[in-house]
Amino acid sequence: MSQYQAVKGTRDIFPEEAARWKYVEGVVHSLASIYGFNEIRTPVFEYTELFQRGIGSTTDIVGKEMFTFQPDPKGRSLTLRPEMTAGVMRAVLQNNLLSSAPVHKLYYISELFRKERPQAGRQRQFSQFGAELIGVSSPAAVAEVMTLMMQVFESLGLHGLKLRVNTLGDSEDRLRYREALQGYFAPFHHLLDESSKERLEKNPLRILDSKNPAVQDIVAGAPRLYDYLNDAAVQDFEKVLFYLGERGIAYTIDHRLVRGLDYYCHTAFEVTSSELGAQDAIGGGGRYDGLARELGGSSDVPASGFAVGMERLLMTMEKQGLFAALTPRAPLVYVVVQSQELGDYGLQIAYQLRKAGIMTEIDLAARSMKAQMREANRIRVSYALFVGATEVETGLYALKNLVTSEQTTLSLEAVLEILREPAAKELLDL
Ligand code: AMP
Repeated sequence: MSQYQAVKGTRDIFPEEAARWKYVEGVVHSLASIYGFNEIRTPVFEYTELFQRGIGSTTDIVGKEMFTFQPDPKGRSLTLRPEMTAGVMRAVLQNNLLSSAPVHKLYYISELFRKERPQAGRQRQFSQFGAELIGVSSPAAVAEVMTLMMQVFESLGLHGLKLRVNTLGDSEDRLRYREALQGYFAPFHHLLDESSKERLEKNPLRILDSKNPAVQDIVAGAPRLYDYLNDAAVQDFEKVLFYLGERGIAYTIDHRLVRGLDYYCHTAFEVTSSELGAQDAIGGGGRYDGLARELGGSSDVPASGFAVGMERLLMTMEKQGLFAALTPRAPLVYVVVQSQELGDYGLQIAYQLRKAGIMTEIDLAARSMKAQMREANRIRVSYALFVGATEVETGLYALKNLVTSEQTTLSLEAVLEILREPAAKELLDL
């Protein structure tokens, strides 16, 4: 046993689980391209200020959860990215992408880092897939990202997920609502917990997010943001709901669903899974037109997006038995060498099979033929190709189908011909 352990809140993913990840990632990649989104990869660390501005210094993420470090005494503070949206928007603004095309549809599958207390469904290194639609502001745009997210869930066979939606209106609506909330909470001030008291001054919308049951009781009677919306904001929201309805996407409206930061506007949404226990959020998103200005852009840039936690997604799939049929792919053929002297000859045959795109395995430890056959059976290859003195002499090889026990003697070209067909089929299954 090693004297080292993986850091708390991180984990290893072994081949069997990696096959599940690859499968889910494959669905994300293909649906993203069907919806016209292109992949973006951004650096794992950024200047700390980017997240302070882009996520907001009143949030838990920035307040307590960032892995921040200083590369040298004079260097600027850096932070491992705790989410992707700020980095993606930084990349778009920095490279002036909006001047080359008015709309950018980007998606990612990326590792993130947050210094949270590790528990089920909450790690310090985790990953998200997500999409950002930048440059157009419309109900159709936010509906498009929501539809992509929901279609990923549907294609993976997930059921029972709950989509909740709300609208945050525009900034003037929220300003009026903020005042109404402050007025409402003022008489309850002495009953609020410390963090809610703090939020009351800076950002009263976030009190609605409180998980404290005593605060939740007070929140239950608070005014609704919906009642402070102007007509255009209501129409915007209704149009989003119309698109969801047209596409058969089930949702519930949750007037308490808020995003605490000022740059969020209009539609906000969250998806939860009852399979996950306390950390039941799988993903969420919304519109964030004001982020670009927050990051120093000269004006708002209309944008919407979502992020889904991969670990929680996989956990839900596992609970729903959706990986049952998924096993790592076995090599197609095992090259069995009859004697040690033929070892190098066998390696060359294996090389030729692999060059032809055929999943091939061969013993690298000069083990006995019996041991090679045992290994071939253990890893469940479909064929064994025998290399013995006769084979080398005649150029004709015995190919045994281990499923039917049928055996034929063939030239290497004919072997390649036979094995190529299932190999191609397997590749298409990827
Ligand atoms: P957020 O960016 O906080 O809205 O998170 C979006 C999604 O990422 C959540 O719904 C979770 O599925 C996932 N997520 C967030 N934090 C963690 C974490 N510490 N560990 C695992 N998944 C997480």
